[in-house]
Amino acid sequence: TKQTIDALKATDQKIDAFLALDEENALATAKAIDEKGIDAANLLAGIPIAIKDNIMTKGLRTTAASKILENFTPIYDATVMEKIHANDMVVIGKTNLDEFAMGGSTENSAFKITKNPWDTTKVPGGSSGGSAAAVSAGMVPFALGSDTGGSIRQPASFTGVVGMKPTYGRISRWGLIAFGSSLDQIGPFSRGVKDNAALLNILVGEDKRDATSVSGHEADFTAKIDAGVKGLRIGLPKEYLGEGVQAEVKEAILAAADKYRELGATVDEVSLPHSKYGVAAYYIISSSEASSNLQRFDGIRYGVRAQDAKDLNDVYVNSRTQGFGPEVKRRIMLGMYSLSAGYYDAYFKKAAQVRTLMRQDFADIFKDHDLILGPVAPTTAYGIGEDVTDPLTMYAGDVLSVPVNLAGLPGLSLPAGFANGLPIGMQLIGPSFAEATLYQAGYAFE
Ligand code: GLN
Repeated sequence: TKQTIDALKATDQKIDAFLALDEENALATAKAIDEKGIDAANLLAGIPIAIKDNIMTKGLRTTAASKILENFTPIYDATVMEKIHANDMVVIGKTNLDEFAMGGSTENSAFKITKNPWDTTKVPGGSSGGSAAAVSAGMVPFALGSDTGGSIRQPASFTGVVGMKPTYGRISRWGLIAFGSSLDQIGPFSRGVKDNAALLNILVGEDKRDATSVSGHEADFTAKIDAGVKGLRIGLPKEYLGEGVQAEVKEAILAAADKYRELGATVDEVSLPHSKYGVAAYYIISSSEASSNLQRFDGIRYGVRAQDAKDLNDVYVNSRTQGFGPEVKRRIMLGMYSLSAGYYDAYFKKAAQVRTLMRQDFADIFKDHDLILGPVAPTTAYGIGEDVTDPLTMYAGDVLSVPVNLAGLPGLSLPAGFANGLPIGMQLIGPSFAEATLYQAGYAFE
């Protein structure tokens, strides 16, 4: 743990992946584990992990990369943190993100811009860019992120690491600062597929404190991970290799398809006809949910309170005006508008209907396919400052990642090649609760 922290401090001067280190506690935890002795069955004991800063860590500042939570220290742990501690992992610190997980480049953080370890002029992706960069740069072997519309898979893809967005409901969201509650899932980052599966093993399970958490699906994701892909039926959606997808990304995915054929799987073309509406539906639904979820940040209950208020209304308005960044404000406005009485039918309701059609597209494919293969993002990592000023360009980059969240499905992102020195990621999507199959296919490819 000491070596990890010393090395990390030097590396992070260039990468800016961390918002806070928990050095004293990490060393104390490691010492306690040494004294207690490691149970051989506990694969993860004593291993360092970094945590995205929108996950509640008791006694450790949790900001969601927002000024409004700059002074907020939780008094309880998220369920996933209880599990991490119960398995004797060592929490090293909290990682940077786009404010409230809204973004795809980690440039929307109120505090710092994280750099891509492969080329520090490029973004690491987002919103879990700090977690992805920390694993990619070798600062920690594991990290947790959250994925509402690609925020684990896309930064994994941009930084050349493995990231899993599990089935909705599989991991408790208790203690995850809510963005789009019907879309959010926590998930693991690692360098390899098997490591990722080992971490997911300890994170899953029903939790009475999360009303959407599911029961009866605990599973061992490493047990059959080396079973290969013989006979596996893989679908390649034609919409995922169409216009706007960088040539090298397309080539890498077609090469992956060939490799799967060589390994004994079948790969054929399928279609997700409604995926072109995914970005529009996602931004309406996620912003609507965000506009409701973020009402709790009122300057009274949590975080920073504006000092210049003359009355109660001023407290709310000034705290939110000063505390939220521009992208968060944009989402709140968009969400309020979509939910308002005169526009609900035209926007929120329509988006919810599109969501049902997209679920159906996936269900149709999974009638005779085990999984879907495609890119995670249309391009490799772009330059810092290149897209962030143009929200619609940023949103368009999510076209391949948001359908998975709208349908509640698991998606695994893993490295598939390089273009101009930057990693290309591929995505394996399965039916609900098919994480074991995704890991099996990912492990065979790796
Ligand atoms: N880029 C998407 C957004 O900005 C996804 C974010 C996420 O998954 N948290 O909303």
